[in-house]
Amino acid sequence: MADFGGDTDLEAFRQEARAWLEANFPASLKGKGSLATSEVRSDEPDLVAWRKAMGAKGWGTPTWPKEYGGGGLSPQQARVLLQEMTRMGAFNPLMFGMGVTMIGPTIMDYGTEEQRKKHLPPIVRGEVQWCVGYSEPNAGSDLASLQTKAVDNGDGWTVTGSKIWTSGAQYSDWCGALVRTDPSAKKHEGISFMLIDMHQKQIEVRPIPLIAGASPFCETFFTEAKVPRDGLLGQLNVGWTVGKRLLQHERASQTGASTGAKPPPPLSVVAKKYLELDGQGRISDLDLRTRLVKHEMDAKVHGLTLARAMAEAKGNNSPGNAASVLKNSATNVAQTRAELTLEIMGHQGLGWQGDAFTGEELESVRSWLFGKAMSIYGGSSEIQNNIVSKRILGLPDTTQST
Ligand SMILES: Cc1cc2nc3c(=O)[nH]c(=O)nc-3n(C[C@H](O)[C@H](O)[C@H](O)COP(=O)(O)OP(=O)(O)OC[C@H]3O[C@@H](n4cnc5c(N)ncnc54)[C@H](O)[C@@H]3O)c2cc1C
Repeated sequence: MADFGGDTDLEAFRQEARAWLEANFPASLKGKGSLATSEVRSDEPDLVAWRKAMGAKGWGTPTWPKEYGGGGLSPQQARVLLQEMTRMGAFNPLMFGMGVTMIGPTIMDYGTEEQRKKHLPPIVRGEVQWCVGYSEPNAGSDLASLQTKAVDNGDGWTVTGSKIWTSGAQYSDWCGALVRTDPSAKKHEGISFMLIDMHQKQIEVRPIPLIAGASPFCETFFTEAKVPRDGLLGQLNVGWTVGKRLLQHERASQTGASTGAKPPPPLSVVAKKYLELDGQGRISDLDLRTRLVKHEMDAKVHGLTLARAMAEAKGNNSPGNAASVLKNSATNVAQTRAELTLEIMGHQGLGWQGDAFTGEELESVRSWLFGKAMSIYGGSSEIQNNIVSKRILGLPDTTQST
């Protein structure tokens, strides 16, 4: 492969990326980016082959260092790769795994060299699945109240307690979890971050069935589960700092940055298929038209702000303050779009299954329902607003009495 380091020859890289994608991206997957987001790892042969090819090339984690199997690309090259994927209807099949979005970057930030070498390459190749064990029945927004404890057993730690809402725990090989290692310390100070092997009988995972049938997350019970010494990420009792870092990476992955999947058409295009138009070809309902325009402006502003934040970061992949702001605006844009889509489609937007509905219509009701979770996971919108107000803008904490 040509060396595109230094003063990057982006055009040459574009040609190389295009040729590689044409040779390796299965045509049958064209435009099926939603497969990459699916909660259950699909065994569809073409998707398996695509995951394998991207994993071997390191392009599922394009900017990760080559020494851990990543693509070693500059941010500019990664952007070109994304453009080329979008152009041909391809997508990154690894982008949504928690190993890629949160755990891997946190191991890169806090792991020892041994931990990086052990955990990062399997994530890059898409061979392992990770979950995040933070929330507990009595510790959600107030995460530092967590009670799952890890006791030193001489060889490592013995973990006992329960987690809840653990997304994908039933399919996971590993769990990045926050546990209490010093119950006598102040609540933020006695916490450690551990990398826990899920393949042990001391861990029981119970999927939580939702009303629609799926079980995207689980209750996870640890009954004297074992964690060896090399399972501690960062320093003992300093896990709160590591844990916050992971959440920053999580938010950065929820800002609506493109994954290569084809973006949905503007809502005005969808609206014109379903709604009555006036003599000038505009949507007749003035109120709805006004709300649509406002939504499209908000979506545009979000997209431009995201692009500006990425440009200003100049290739620094560290999650910045912008992630907290952008996570909330991405949530607002997505939830408003889902609400408006249902309103536009009317009864057709409420179908759950059956031939009477198009794929787009069936998808719209699922997006609307799933969209509700966006303002909860990764820290609720209210908690993000608190972070923006207190930590970024430095405003006084009005919830504390003076
Ligand atoms: C789809 C989905 C996937 C998830 N996946 C995971 C996962 O993989 N791993 C994991 O550990 N957790 C996961 N979670 C859990 C998620 O992180 C928590 O639900 C979230 O942090 C909120 O905690 P809670 O549910 O206990 O709500 P609570 O903390 O009880 O909050 C209830 C309401 O009160 C508000 N509130 C609470 N405190 C304040 C405050 N100080 N100021 C203002 N408002 C406040 C909240 O905003 C919220 O509206 C997931 C959640 C969802 C919905």
